[in-house]
Amino acid sequence: MDRFSYDVIVVGGGAAGLRAALEAAAHKTKPSVAVVSKVYPMRSHTVSAEGGTAAVLREHDSFDSHSFDTIKGSDYLADQDAVEFFVREAPKEVIRLDHWGCPFTRDEDGRLAQRAFGGMSVKRTVFAGDKIGFHILHTLLQRTMLFDNITRHDEWFVTSLITSGTRVRGLTALELKTGELGVMKAKAVILATGGCGRVYEFTTNGWIKTGDGMALACRAGAYLKDMEFVQFHPTALPGTGILMTEAARGEGGYLLNKDNERFLKRYVPEKMELGPRDVISRAILTEISERRGLDGPYGSYVLLDLRHLGRETIEKKLPFLKELAEKYAGISPLNEPIPVRPAQHYMMGGISIDASGRTVVAGLYAAGEAACVSINGANRLGSNSLSECLVFGASAGRHAAEYAANVGEAADTELFSEALKLEEKRIHDGLLKRESGKFRLSDIREEMRRVNEAGLSVFRREEGMRTTLAELRKLRERFRNETYLEDSEMVFNTELISALELDFMLEVSEHIAVSALLRRESRGAHYRLDKPSRDDENFLQHTLTRRGLEGPEVEYLPVTITKWKPAARVY
Ligand SMILES: Cc1cc2nc3c(=O)[nH]c(=O)nc-3n(C[C@H](O)[C@H](O)[C@H](O)COP(=O)(O)OP(=O)(O)OC[C@H]3O[C@@H](n4cnc5c(N)ncnc54)[C@H](O)[C@@H]3O)c2cc1C
Repeated sequence: MDRFSYDVIVVGGGAAGLRAALEAAAHKTKPSVAVVSKVYPMRSHTVSAEGGTAAVLREHDSFDSHSFDTIKGSDYLADQDAVEFFVREAPKEVIRLDHWGCPFTRDEDGRLAQRAFGGMSVKRTVFAGDKIGFHILHTLLQRTMLFDNITRHDEWFVTSLITSGTRVRGLTALELKTGELGVMKAKAVILATGGCGRVYEFTTNGWIKTGDGMALACRAGAYLKDMEFVQFHPTALPGTGILMTEAARGEGGYLLNKDNERFLKRYVPEKMELGPRDVISRAILTEISERRGLDGPYGSYVLLDLRHLGRETIEKKLPFLKELAEKYAGISPLNEPIPVRPAQHYMMGGISIDASGRTVVAGLYAAGEAACVSINGANRLGSNSLSECLVFGASAGRHAAEYAANVGEAADTELFSEALKLEEKRIHDGLLKRESGKFRLSDIREEMRRVNEAGLSVFRREEGMRTTLAELRKLRERFRNETYLEDSEMVFNTELISALELDFMLEVSEHIAVSALLRRESRGAHYRLDKPSRDDENFLQHTLTRRGLEGPEVEYLPVTITKWKPAARVY
């Protein structure tokens, strides 16, 4: 079945995917563009973004300042040429969104309002109340409807990429409504599939963030980059992991320990609550381990206090946070501080690309959280991610359309029928019809999440990482040989989708573990208690991993430095 053939297929309907589709569709050659998404685009995880998106827009700010903050925030692992490109493009993207109707919050003089965010030295984050993700996604989705050369395939799950030699030719996807597998041919494919937070036990990420694109890229021969760098956000609700946005601290909120002390004075005295996320997450866990945290039914925590901000600021600037705290913690931030603790939040690492979104596989591009350019290095600054999705989504869309305009379609029909047969064998005959086995899917998934949390969290040690890697390998074997599905129906088989996602997550987890083990230093979010210092002599380089027969194979790539020489990272 190869009903579909496009010039460019974008996998993902989040900010990066929709921005890529818009840019590709606007190319002078008017290519046919498809957006394939496993969920309806408005359910993409971008919708959950709260605080805002960063861009230099006013006289008090400069490109050099945004670049330097980002590079220092990255613990000098960001590629500085990519960062310079990013900061120059971000304002254009924000203004474009404004013109497309995104309802940004404005100051009284009518200009776009900007708020402070962690690690940024000036107010640089544009926002829309505290629902920026919803408004950006909605604006982009509406915009795609103006293009008759964009076709959407909502609720189609991409299972594999089809390649010949080192070139991508299309993909296989499963339609959730029917359970049928089909081929979609493409001259170029852009993976904008988001992060992989669900490999962890405690995360701000929803169930759909399972690293699919990272695994798909790897299986097609691309590299992953810097997978050891996993961001833990300091302020999530204990129990659910629901995010209490950094905008709360941007607006002036305090973090307190059990003695009502603003403890960050011991860790980031200059920036206090506006310090970078890696440092604040470690500070909170240190307070807890030294018994200055509080204890509750979901473990230990510290407090986020907004009471002094007053009703007007909270209701005008943080209405969603207020609603979340009331609904999910039973707390009104007007009257009580909110319990918070660190949770996995974001992947700095991802599919290795250059600034045009290119991977090493011809015709295969990536953008957004699934990708790593790298502008985030070892630690991302809050509100840089949405801007990154826009800037590098557009770049990938533009370059993929250009590539597609200059290549022909694959003539080899056998390539597609063989690819489909292989997937039918793996999924329909293998997974779906396997009726017996020792383990349920959920047993393996929960164990994977537990071992990742145990060995690859905020604080890491050699021994813990080794144990996690060994456990992950066992889980992979169990998944392959001893897991069964309870649901063998074709129509909306969500258990089958979970199985395919688990397969991807196990693969991605191994890349995180191997990359982390081999980085024998501490840098940004990768903090090793057994190697607590940064080691520029040996590790001022990106980790590249590629699929090998025995597991991920590792190479290193120098970091691009333009004007900012690596220095001690003090806040
Ligand atoms: C709670 C929360 C708040 C945040 N707040 C902010 C903020 O204020 N500012 C900021 O800059 N960043 C924020 N971030 C980070 C930012 O929102 C994300 O990094 C960004 O939205 C990711 O966008 P994306 O387009 O890369 O992926 P996503 O929005 O996650 O979209 C991924 C898409 O890929 C599709 N997909 C995935 N796998 C498949 C498959 N196998 N087949 C078909 N389709 C597939 C999905 O259906 C989806 O459409 C926040 C993150 C969280 C979790």
